[in-house]
Amino acid sequence: MKGFTTSGFLYLQKSGLSPTKAYDWSAKYFALPLEEKQKHPNTNKEANRGYSGMGVEKVTNLDLDLKDDETAVAKLRAMIPDLKESLEIGSDAGGRYPAKPFKNHYPDSALPGFGAAMNEFYQQCDDLHHTLLSAIAEGLSLPPSFFKEYITAGDHVLRLLHYPSVSASLLKQEGTVRAGSHTDYGTVTLLFQDMSGGLQARSPDGSWQDIPPIEDAIVINAGDMLQIWTNDVIKSTHHRVVSPPNAKVRDDGNYSARYSIAVSWF
Ligand code: CA
Repeated sequence: MKGFTTSGFLYLQKSGLSPTKAYDWSAKYFALPLEEKQKHPNTNKEANRGYSGMGVEKVTNLDLDLKDDETAVAKLRAMIPDLKESLEIGSDAGGRYPAKPFKNHYPDSALPGFGAAMNEFYQQCDDLHHTLLSAIAEGLSLPPSFFKEYITAGDHVLRLLHYPSVSASLLKQEGTVRAGSHTDYGTVTLLFQDMSGGLQARSPDGSWQDIPPIEDAIVINAGDMLQIWTNDVIKSTHHRVVSPPNAKVRDDGNYSARYSIAVSWF
């Protein structure tokens, strides 16, 4: 509980949950042609399903043309504050949750098996979510089933994230972050991150602390809902993604791509 009540973050090891297969599918998904991914854009806020792009080609081209041009970099930053693309996946009918009026649209013909693999991975994460909330209840001296009746909606988002290869000089510009500072809304977020690093959480004094990747560990952070439900005993902490400290700058002056997967419940 100490992690949840102080920093709002903790590492979970030996959970038995491996993201390896999901990572493989994620890399295959983001390698699809842009027009394939854009067939299912995430434009309906209520559904919150589908692809969110960020014009990868545009970033690259602009960066090449406008090196060392302060104004251009500022413009670029304003245009593309978050250097990433993502796929949001919501609940499908069935399982332990009620049916939803929205469907996930998987690229079934371009990438057969992807949807089934994502559903399977989500199920494993959801089982862990239930185990975690039972443990949190016990940690608060409550019956293990205490939160069960509050987590019946199945409003979750499984989010595949791809931070594409980006110019090291661009990412080192102060203020350029790969994902802006935010708290999560839900109960908890499970974060599977690769070894390149870059995740930071804000400590109470306002400084940013690195949350370095640990091999095979899931980073878990508490969200706003859990903070509200526990009268601020559990902390929902601001976090962000900055230039990855461990990532190697390649010969072409770019950081290599970074992948992560986040699963949150609402
Ligand atoms: Ca987050």
